[in-house]
Amino acid sequence: MTTTCDILITGGRLIDPQHSTDEITTIAISQGRIASLGEQSLEADRVIDASGKIIAPGFIDVHSHAQNIPGHRLQAFDGVTTTFEMEAGASPVASALEWAASEGRPLNYGFSAGWLHTRARVLENYDDDALAALPDLPLDSMGVISAQGSLWNAPATAEQREEIIRLLEEQLDAGAIGIGVLLGYAAEAEPAELMAVAELGARRNMPLFVHTRIGPMLPGKTPLEGIEELLEASLATGAHIHMCHFNSSASSHPREAREKILAAQAEGVRFTTELYPYGFSSTVIGAGFLDPEILEAAGRPPGIITPVATGQPAESYAEIARLRQEDPSQLCLIRYYQDPWDGADLAEVMSLPGALFASDAMPLKPLQGQGEVDIMQWPLPEGVSAHPRSTACFTRALAWLHRDRGLLELSDVIARSTVMPAQLLRGAIPAMERKGHLGLGADADLVIFDLEALQPNTSISPVEASRGVEHLLVGGTPVISDGELLTGALPGGAVLPSNP
Ligand SMILES: [Zn+2]
Repeated sequence: MTTTCDILITGGRLIDPQHSTDEITTIAISQGRIASLGEQSLEADRVIDASGKIIAPGFIDVHSHAQNIPGHRLQAFDGVTTTFEMEAGASPVASALEWAASEGRPLNYGFSAGWLHTRARVLENYDDDALAALPDLPLDSMGVISAQGSLWNAPATAEQREEIIRLLEEQLDAGAIGIGVLLGYAAEAEPAELMAVAELGARRNMPLFVHTRIGPMLPGKTPLEGIEELLEASLATGAHIHMCHFNSSASSHPREAREKILAAQAEGVRFTTELYPYGFSSTVIGAGFLDPEILEAAGRPPGIITPVATGQPAESYAEIARLRQEDPSQLCLIRYYQDPWDGADLAEVMSLPGALFASDAMPLKPLQGQGEVDIMQWPLPEGVSAHPRSTACFTRALAWLHRDRGLLELSDVIARSTVMPAQLLRGAIPAMERKGHLGLGADADLVIFDLEALQPNTSISPVEASRGVEHLLVGGTPVISDGELLTGALPGGAVLPSNP
């Protein structure tokens, strides 16, 4: 029996959906793992009094583009302990992992094999120098790739397709933990190529994280066709396909999309999806589906697009065209719902059964006219902006959907943020067995928060951390202590398929 431990957490209400636990208990942590539960007579180097607070497994975010130190810091205050770039992914994955390891990260991290980056390598013929010249952040490099050429969005020959699959598999061997498929951004790729990628996913037992080819913006089409394509690929190959951001991707037909997905899941199709609690999204303004001609034909007014750098909604299609030409990689916001904040339709979408929460967090960008802003400062300086899902996805789900609206049970919100994302990856990544729960031997990744005091930061600028997360441990090391960020704490490690 353990008589001493590193950290003892007393008096808190532990909610651990994997073990159906909801009780006030004592948690002992030793060597980065959960050493005991409910044992009172332990001595510890440090005692955290969690009275009146909730203790939950640290949130696992399968969809964050904010893969740098400031992005992780903001996510820490959103209760996140493990954050993955799965939608865009990276290629070469080894470079992304090396970059993260060399700088250090507050939170655990991982990358999928990036299909779009891989397409660019093959179709644009990138050599090592061209690859090395791309920005480190996968989302930024995607912006540069799309600004440089257009071959990356062309149909591939049979030979090129083979090379794309070979390179993707190379990424899986190099530590990728899934396959990221930005299909809606390279929509000219042929359906057979998606099928080949799904076959690879099935063969390697790696889920695909897909931004659908056909979203809500395309005239004459509906997102249902985009979902159907994914369901067919899963059925034909047996691959697990995870659809990114149901809230935006299915926004014009959420009810029909919901019925379609639930029916397919009931038939046993390996298909999952995710949500973030906002009625507007964010992406590079150069994205193909934001072509002003497409928007106009689909009856979408220009004012649904707001460049992040100015915060001012576009006044005309011509303005959108100009912004796309000036800098296609700049970020913008896209409104999908009438009331993009607390609308009843959005609340209904957010209760989709079986969907997990994932932030789609975005990297910070300077406001227009700001020049250089040092985003390594903490607290963050003024003059930066980001979609608020970067600061408040999970805390907003807790505060809005549970505390304020009573739409979801507390344990349901926590399950969608912990055990459900862990389960999505456990087949492929044994290390995920120790995450998403706080049973004996689990990784001591946990969050302690005050539900009543939770204040999700939902402003686009200034960007501030959400409030209410009192303590956050990653592998037993404090990253947030008594509500303060420990700026030197970089305990995050790479989650790899080969971890023991
Ligand atoms: Zn996306």
